[in-house]
Formats: sequence, C-alpha cells, structure tokens
Amino acid sequence: MSAVSAAAAFDAERVRADFPILGQQVNGRPLVYLDSAASGQRPLAVLRAVERYETHCHSNVHRGVHALSQAATEAFEGARERARRFLNARSTREIVFVRGTTEAINLVAQSFARPRLGPGDEILITGLEHHANIVPWQMVCAQSGCTLKVAPIDRRGEVELDRLLGLLSARTRLVAVAHVSNALGTIVPVKRIAEAAHSCGALVLLDGAQAVPHTAVDVRSLGCDFYAFSGHKLYGPTGIGVLYGREELLEEMPPWQGGGDMIRTVTFEKSTYNELPWKFEAGTPNISGAVGLAAAMDYLESLGIEAVAAHERRLLALATGELERIPGLEIIGTATHKAAVLSFTLRGCHPHDLGTILDTEGVAIRTGHHCAMPVMSFFDIPATARASFGCYNTEADVHALVAALGKAREVFG
Ligand code: PLP
Repeated sequence: MSAVSAAAAFDAERVRADFPILGQQVNGRPLVYLDSAASGQRPLAVLRAVERYETHCHSNVHRGVHALSQAATEAFEGARERARRFLNARSTREIVFVRGTTEAINLVAQSFARPRLGPGDEILITGLEHHANIVPWQMVCAQSGCTLKVAPIDRRGEVELDRLLGLLSARTRLVAVAHVSNALGTIVPVKRIAEAAHSCGALVLLDGAQAVPHTAVDVRSLGCDFYAFSGHKLYGPTGIGVLYGREELLEEMPPWQGGGDMIRTVTFEKSTYNELPWKFEAGTPNISGAVGLAAAMDYLESLGIEAVAAHERRLLALATGELERIPGLEIIGTATHKAAVLSFTLRGCHPHDLGTILDTEGVAIRTGHHCAMPVMSFFDIPATARASFGCYNTEADVHALVAALGKAREVFG
C-alpha cells in the first residue's frame, strides 16, 4: 500500500477508541493529548495484558519450579522473543530488558565504554541529543580520560553530516546518535552515519526512544551495534525498555550491576556470571512491564507501523501549515525529514504560559527544554512549546491546537 493510501485507510477515530484515557475531559474540555513524545498512552490491549498477567500469572521469574513462576517466566521470556522480532535481532541473547532508554545508554557507557576507552579515544555525539545521550558519555569521559566530540546541527535542526563525517577518525571509538530528535523531530540519517562510523572502526549506538513509535526498526539493516528504547514511548508501560546489543559485543562486556539472577555461582572468593542476556539483568525485573511492552508491540504492528507513520506525517503537514500562518509563531526545527513532533515559540508568550493556557482548553502539550538544553542554547531560546502526535491523534486535535493558540494570542495580544 502506498503511503498516501495507507494514510487514507487509517481510521484514527477507531484507534482512539482503543485508548480509554483519551475519553476524559480536562478542565471541562475534551482532552486533546499532544504529548506522546514525552509518553504515549496505552491501549486497552496493553492494559488488559498487564491485568491478565497480574491476575493469573504473577510470581518471580527464573527461580521457581511451581506453576506460577513458570507462567511468569514464560510470559517474560516470551516478551523478549517479541522484542527480538520487533527489532529483527538475530537472537534473544541480544535483547536486554532495562528500565528505559536512559538505563540502556548508561549500561553501554559503563560496561562497554568505561573499561575500554582512555586518553586519546573519542566518543562522538551530535548537537541534537537528549540529555540521556550526553550525560552518560560525559561521565565516562571523566572516569576514563576519553574525549567527547559533538557534531553540530544547522538552523533547520539537521545534523551537519559533512562535519560529522569530518569528526570521524581512527580515534573515534563510539558514535552515539539519536535516531529521531525529541526536541525537534528531525529524523537523522543513522544508516549512513553507521556505515561511516564502521569504516573508521567505531561502533554505533542509536537512541531509538523517539523512533520506535513512528518507524519500523530493523537493527540489522540499520547496521547499528546497540539500539536503545523505552516502552512508554511505544504505547507500553513505564519502567521497561530494551537495549539491543550485538551478541559478540555483549558477550565481551562485563556485567554492569551485580546481584541475583545475573550469576551462575557465588562464593565469597569469586562469582561467575550468567549467560546472555541475564548477565545484564541483576535483580527481579519488571515482569509485567515486559508483558505490557510485548502487547504494545503487537498492538502497533496490528495497526501497521507504516500506516501509523503515514497518518502522523499527514497530521504533521496539516499542523505545520496551520501554525505557519499564525503571526508571531516560529517553528523550531524544520528538517526535511521529520517525525510527528512540532516545536515552536510564540512571540511575547513564554512557552510555560502558553502550555498553561492550552491546558485550560484541554490541550496537553509539553513546554520546556525537553531534556535537550544544548538544542535550546543553539537556537538561543530558553524553551519551546512542543506538540507531538501519536497513532490516536486526529485532524480535530490539530484544529483544537490551532484554536487554543488563537486564545493564547488573544491573552498575550
Ligand atoms: N532519548 C530520547 C530521544 C528521548 O526522547 C528520551 C525521553 O524523552 C530519552 C532518551 C530518555 O528516555 P527515558 O526517560 O524513557 O529513559
């Protein structure tokens, strides 16, 4: 199906009915949820899968011979296989459950980068990154003496590819890049970057937090070494996410956290570690979170990720066109390829005030630096207002946003 016909066939009203939370009123107005980049809402299919697990299967995993423990283990490891298919990873040994993108990146920073990198080595990121893909590398640099390099962005919010390629050298050990920017929506040409990084002998980590709800991800075709994402951006629960890592790399990496489940044997003199992926999963995991995440993947794939993406592109185009006509409104981030994120400022109105006024109209947007302070510094602004779209948003939501912005303009003259 072409992108156009997929969008036409997509019934967002029907999809919306799958999300009970969207049926409520906020401040006496129907809720218009435009904050999916911060956290997506959960469909009934996810809520029910979690409820089913909690009601019928819950126990601790891996350690019990009794029926419930086996059911929980089956559910948890079944979710791992689901995540493997979602990413087209080769093996479930490459799927590590973590709390979210932040924990995944910290795991790679501490277990992969810290033991191997030292003075003279470089980690390359871009000017677009979320703090979760900046601070863990700064910590590693302080710990190991390696250097953090940053590829700049341009005024459209695109990574300056030539300059990024120019920063790659034999010193570059790791390139860590967002697949999609949360602050601006820019889709980064990560496959091209991965090829260039590999040709210099560097490894590649992709921060997929904002990509997974909008695009099918195939880690093998992207050619990345690590891929990180969070369940809650994907219509799944909070507190669960995935780190994909190539098996050969994970195999060589030392455990990050120690405790139960990640060991094979323990004596006071020495411990030996479990095999992949459990070597990286110390302690009782978020079992119901994994079950919910698997259900979210089923749900999104049942809608068709391409159909969702085409629908969101249509909403983004509509909203961009409408907002461009509002006097005093400036869209921040005008990359050629964007996911469904629209950042903007309105002259004379601080984004926080704008967010508050929109909330009184029932319109939920996010305001602030979006955990991307360097992006704000680059544009020389303290914050933006950000509307972001998900599979359940409709044209009516865009019109409600535009109407609420009209009210804000009346207030701020
Ligand atoms: N990276 C990007 C691009 C994000 O948008 C986010 C969250 O907004 C994160 C990382 C961190 O995700 P989490 O807070 O779920 O760990």
